[in-house]
Amino acid sequence: MISFIPLIVLTFEIEISNVNNYRIMDHFMKLGFFPTPLERLNNLSDQFPGYQIYIKRDDQTGLATGGNKTRKLEYLIQTALDQSCDSIITAGAQQSNHCRQTAAAAARAGLKCHLVLGGHQPKEFTGNLLMSKLLGAHLHFTGENRKGEDIPLIAASCKKNGQRPYIIPYGGSNSIGALGYVRAIKELQDQLKELQQPIDYIYFASSSGGTHAGMLLGKALYQLDSEIIGVCIDKDEINGLSLNQNILNIMNDTKKRLNITRDFCLDEIHLLLDYEKAGYGVLTNNEINAIKLLAEKEGILLDPVYTGRAFYGMIDQIINQKIRSGSSVLFWHTGGFPATFNYIAQLSN
Ligand SMILES: *Cc1c(COP(=O)(O)O)cnc(C)c1O
Repeated sequence: MISFIPLIVLTFEIEISNVNNYRIMDHFMKLGFFPTPLERLNNLSDQFPGYQIYIKRDDQTGLATGGNKTRKLEYLIQTALDQSCDSIITAGAQQSNHCRQTAAAAARAGLKCHLVLGGHQPKEFTGNLLMSKLLGAHLHFTGENRKGEDIPLIAASCKKNGQRPYIIPYGGSNSIGALGYVRAIKELQDQLKELQQPIDYIYFASSSGGTHAGMLLGKALYQLDSEIIGVCIDKDEINGLSLNQNILNIMNDTKKRLNITRDFCLDEIHLLLDYEKAGYGVLTNNEINAIKLLAEKEGILLDPVYTGRAFYGMIDQIINQKIRSGSSVLFWHTGGFPATFNYIAQLSN
């Protein structure tokens, strides 16, 4: 009999930690359409014999044309509401998908939205910037301060005007936002079970690190077998740190919320660093050809900044046989389509 006691204690502990996980994971404001579709790309798989190619459509999350930030915002906006805030402040580039989805989420939640945008106000608005404006966001153009340096200034002026602002960091990438992609891995896991199709490799665009951090924690929590490979989009450091260090930091912050005790290290973060050399937002023939390939073969549109580059990276790895023949590969489409209209001249040829 005595030998059963440790077993009982162990079971009890696991249950407690699962209950806590579920409580945190279930506490979000519903903003998107989930699960997003998971589909086999039949024509593309035919073009690359030996590879089964799938796509996960997070460009269809629903929030003002969708994208990956919707999953993060479900947790971030809920936290703002829990703290009785009445306004949101966040930052990004003028063509930020994150800012556009934040503007839409804030509107849905009945919150004011302040967007802190690099550069100067253009004469005419286009793409995401135009959409953010239409979604009712207050736009603050901050010139050379392109990474949200002016957020404290704008927060102070909001408070002076009697507002209670909630600050969402660049890209929504922190331990709260990352929960969205922990849950996304559970969603994928359920879909793969139904399809009865394991996935060997997952490729996606990684930039401020929240998506990547959430996916890796979700993989650990739900025992997903796939290898998760982020294609680095921006060669610049964030907060003076490299992208993989930022991802690890977000993972370490997020795992505390989830009662995950295991240690993670930089070696577990698989980032492809060769594809961002042209610089953030610089459209080259590589991205243009990738956009045209998926559009012409499958009728699916990628974006010029993130997914065009990440998809190019994935196809390049396949063509150069960096991943073994016979593998199944998933491209996780993270959205970004509206930025297309900021590259009309280059995409018209
Ligand atoms: C923000 C964004 C990414 C990168 O996600 P992070 O969590 O910032 O790494 C990828 N694709 C698109 C379309 C995005 O808008």
